[in-house]
Amino acid sequence: MDIKKLREIFEDNYEELKYETGRSITLNMKEFAWQQVKLYYEKLGKVAKNMTEAEVKLILPEQVTPKGKKYTIEGIVDIVEKEDKITMYDIKTHNVEEVRNDKDLYRGQLNMYAYMWKNLKGTEINNMAVIATAPSSELRQATGIGDEIAVDIIDDWNPIVELEIDNNEVEKQIRCFGETVDKIEEGEFKAPSLSKLKEVKKGQKAPFGTAVCRHCDARHSCNSYSQYINKVKLDEEILEVAESEDLVEQDEWKDAFMK
Ligand code: SF4
Repeated sequence: MDIKKLREIFEDNYEELKYETGRSITLNMKEFAWQQVKLYYEKLGKVAKNMTEAEVKLILPEQVTPKGKKYTIEGIVDIVEKEDKITMYDIKTHNVEEVRNDKDLYRGQLNMYAYMWKNLKGTEINNMAVIATAPSSELRQATGIGDEIAVDIIDDWNPIVELEIDNNEVEKQIRCFGETVDKIEEGEFKAPSLSKLKEVKKGQKAPFGTAVCRHCDARHSCNSYSQYINKVKLDEEILEVAESEDLVEQDEWKDAFMK
């Protein structure tokens, strides 16, 4: 399939989603999404073609928190089965460096999904990986001017981060989810201050507000994030690392409040 055809499919898909959800997105956001789709296709077309099951919904119901509250854990993964080996992929719109620098976080989640898969299908996951689709800054620069992608840059880009299988992670994850549910249920949470959002954690390039908050479902009702993304009080240093994802986020933020 050539890029033109891919774009047509992307546009059709976008129109369908718009119709189904009744929501549209800004032009910036749409182009950002298109870049990710295009790069995913260019780089991972082979993986995508080999998927034996796409968007498998995993559910672990009837979990009970340490304080006796019931909750359900859910996740969505893609599966490749080849030569009696099963590989589980979790596609995330995160930056690959963030995933590499915070492997423990992702390892816990994927081991949880492997456990849920076994409960559902009765087979073991042999390998697992995150596919981090957000393009690196080099890729963004290379693709920003059109559909042509510099071959050597895309060759160097590896969005697949393999993670180790560790059954000990499951119990730890369930306990951690349970404790978090208890805290949420009891209203025991508050967003960190703007200064925390501006901090760059060791091993990461982007500040907390970009690396973490950008993926948080609560961000549109979070005051700290509102200050961060709208660049209130942001200093020069942070402005340098708050790149195009943040500009897209600014659009999304405005969009969310204009509805
Ligand atoms: S956006 Fe989410 S992760 Fe970021 S400070 Fe607010 S609540 Fe916390």
